Amino acid sequence: MHIAIVGCGQLARMMALAGWPMGYRFTFLAGAGENTTCVKGLGDIVDLTDDMTGNVLFSALGEPDVVTVEREHVDTALLKTLVRHCAVYPQPEAIEVCQHRGREKTFLNNLGIPTANFRVANSNEELQAAIDEMGTPVLIKSCEEGYDGRGQWLIENPQQLTDLLNSDTVLPEVVVEGFVKFEREVSLVAARSPNGDISCYPLAENHHSGGILLSSIAPAPALTDEMTAQAKEIADAIFNKLNYVGVLAIELFVSDGKLIVNELAPRVHNSGHWTQIAGICTQFENHMRAITSVGLGTTEPTGHSAMVNLLGCDPTPEMVDMSNVQLHKYNKSLRPNRKVGHLNLRHNSLEELQQQVEKLKQELYG
Ligand code: AMP
Repeated sequence: MHIAIVGCGQLARMMALAGWPMGYRFTFLAGAGENTTCVKGLGDIVDLTDDMTGNVLFSALGEPDVVTVEREHVDTALLKTLVRHCAVYPQPEAIEVCQHRGREKTFLNNLGIPTANFRVANSNEELQAAIDEMGTPVLIKSCEEGYDGRGQWLIENPQQLTDLLNSDTVLPEVVVEGFVKFEREVSLVAARSPNGDISCYPLAENHHSGGILLSSIAPAPALTDEMTAQAKEIADAIFNKLNYVGVLAIELFVSDGKLIVNELAPRVHNSGHWTQIAGICTQFENHMRAITSVGLGTTEPTGHSAMVNLLGCDPTPEMVDMSNVQLHKYNKSLRPNRKVGHLNLRHNSLEELQQQVEKLKQELYG
C-alpha cells in the first residue's frame, strides 16, 4: 500500500512512523518553500509545482493508493483533481468545512451542535455592527488560515475595537465570537472507517499558553458520563454528516459541565499525541487503518497518560531519564515557540502524573 501525505511536518512524520510497521510506503508532497526535515528518510518528497494537477500530480506522487493530509490549510481544488485516480481521505469536501471558521460553525449549528455565539464580518462596518449587536467581550478571529491563536484579537470594550479599526491592521474576513466562560478545554480525537465504524478516544484536558497547546492529560480528570456521551454524540453527528474517513479532532470548551465546540481539525492532532504511550492503538495508526480500510484499533486506555509539548526547547537528560517518559523529536531546529518535539508520560496514579507534568512544565518554561 502506497500512501501520499500532503505536508511534511511532524504530523506527516508520525503518520509515516505508524504506517511503516504495517508495510506501507510513503510519498510526501511539499508546498513551495516548505521545510521537509521532519520526513527526511521516511519516503520520497515531491515538490509541488504549478503544472501538477490530476494525472500529472498523481504520477508525480508515484500513483499512490490513498492521499491524506497533515493539515487543513491545503488546496482542496487540487485534492479534488486526485479523486478520479485514488482515494482521498478525509474527503476534500470535509476539509473545506474545517477551513473556514464561519462555514464550520454554521455546519455545526445546523447539526444542533453548540458553538460560541458568532457573526461573520467582511468589512469594518460589518465588524462594528456585529459587536454593537453582540456586546463585549468578543474574540475576532480570521476565518481562514489562523492557528495556534494567530490572527485573533480580543476586544474587551468598545474603545479597543475603535483602536483596532484605526490601526494599520488590515483585517481579513473574520468571525466575531462571543467570549465563552469555560471551566476548562478538552478535545476529542476520534476515527471513522469507510464502512462507518467510529472509535473515540477518551476526552483529553488541554492547557495552552498564548494560544499554543502546552500539555494534555487523558482521560480528562473528573470526566462525567454525560460529557463522554455528549462528545460521542457530537462526533457521530459530524462524522456521519460528512461521511468522513480518517481521524478527526474536535476542540471543545467545558462550560457549566456542557460541551461547546471551539473548532474542528480534519486530521491527527497535537492533543492526541498521548495515545503513543497509552498502550492502545495510537491516533496515527488508527488514521492509517481508517484510510486503508483496516478495522480500527482499541482506543480505551487503562491508567493515565499525558503529553507536554517541547516549544522551542530540548528536554534535559534528567527529564527523559524516567521509566514512564517517552521522548519524541521531530528533527527540527530550535526556534522560539516552535513545536520541536513532545514528551509523553504514563502513570497509574492521576495525582502523581499531574505532579510530574507540572514539574516538567515548570522546569521547561518556568
Ligand atoms: P483557537 O485558535 O480558536 O483554537 O483559539 C485559541 C485559544 O483561544 C483557545 O484554545 C481558547 O483558550 C481561546 N479561545 C478561543 N475562542 C474562544 C472563545 N470564543 N471564548 C473564550 N476563549 C476562546
